[in-house]
Amino acid sequence: MPRLVMKFGGTSVADLDRIRNAAARIKREVDAGYDVAVVVSAMSGKTNELVGWVRESGALYDAREYDAVVSSGEQVTSGLMALTLQAMGIEARSWQGWQVPVRTTSAHGAARIEDIETQNLDAKFSDGMQVAVIAGFQGLSPENRITTLGRGGSDTTAVAFAAALGAERCDIYTDVDGIYTTDPRIVAEARKLDRIAYEEMLELASLGAKVLQTRSVELAMRYKVRLQVLSSFEDKPGTLVCDEEEIMESNVVSGVAFQRDEAKLTLISVADRPGIAAAIFGPLADAGVNVDMIVQNISEEGRTDMTFSCPVDEVPHARKALEQAMERGEINYHGLDADTNVAKVSIVGIGMRSHAGVAKKMFRALANDGVNIKVITTSEIKVSVLIDRKYLELAVRALHDAFDLEKAN
Ligand code: ASP
Ligand code: MG
Repeated sequence: MPRLVMKFGGTSVADLDRIRNAAARIKREVDAGYDVAVVVSAMSGKTNELVGWVRESGALYDAREYDAVVSSGEQVTSGLMALTLQAMGIEARSWQGWQVPVRTTSAHGAARIEDIETQNLDAKFSDGMQVAVIAGFQGLSPENRITTLGRGGSDTTAVAFAAALGAERCDIYTDVDGIYTTDPRIVAEARKLDRIAYEEMLELASLGAKVLQTRSVELAMRYKVRLQVLSSFEDKPGTLVCDEEEIMESNVVSGVAFQRDEAKLTLISVADRPGIAAAIFGPLADAGVNVDMIVQNISEEGRTDMTFSCPVDEVPHARKALEQAMERGEINYHGLDADTNVAKVSIVGIGMRSHAGVAKKMFRALANDGVNIKVITTSEIKVSVLIDRKYLELAVRALHDAFDLEKAN
């Protein structure tokens, strides 16, 4: 029998009515002849509540117990979904991560899937099971402890199962009806895309679009899983994330992404010598600071300024890591300047590979609206700028407009 993976996010399983609504969608696919692996998230808000309890229990919590607690939301929804499907006359069974098992690394709270053993599921499917309801977000460490895959990790569970089971498609049911050119709450004319290439989606996800966990897109790209993002509340096609060869025509720029809460830090006057970048960014990485943009300024008399960006809430960790590196004598700087009022805006599109002048057009559009650019970075298919946070909405609208994203082609 052909196989399908259907993933339902937190808002799609928020209460029993919504679980019934999702179950009705699953029944349709079963009736159409599919063996279905359903991946569920916790009810919306549940994981936040669980994380809150762990944090309240003590600042220095044991990450293994964090996972024991926060993985429980998915256990509830998987059981409820199996019960609901059974009540509809469908042969359904719930599976926790450890029961499959989904083997992961032991990085608790941010584990990576290493392997999914599907023999048990395969046997049950041939035995008449129609739906396997899998608790998303969970896995099993080499030490046989429950792990979780990081926030939003059920997307990754779904894609990993689609790859492991050889599913025809992985449908991600959510509260939006697809991938948009940008956030429709900021730009009313934002347009839903029919298709988007893996690489573009990967950039958009890592640049701040919150629909899919970045890691899930990475996996989909690696294993060529056809991924569809669609609404669980409306009956209409969503957005297909696929190979760029499957996209006939697209705009040069496909979307505008943004990250609101960024910070720009400048280390003033560090020695300009071989190894200095390693001496600065090594300790930052060890402290878990997610450094994004990096600029080394022009040096004078052997000293230089080093500027980088990271999420605002990581600034205290960054400051501490750098101070400690200074105390250990690994680096020496005259000051650390932190601007915590910046945001990052990015344009993404595979069309940039073959079109010149995209960056110029972006900078012109921002200049026309009086938006000052603080840092720029580029890759083959994206341009990102750091700007004052108060201009974020203005910048997103200006760019959406400049690249005519409200129109297809
Ligand atoms: N329940 C988890 C979270 O809220 C995983 C998921 O929903 O994908 O992050
Ligand atoms: Mg999600």
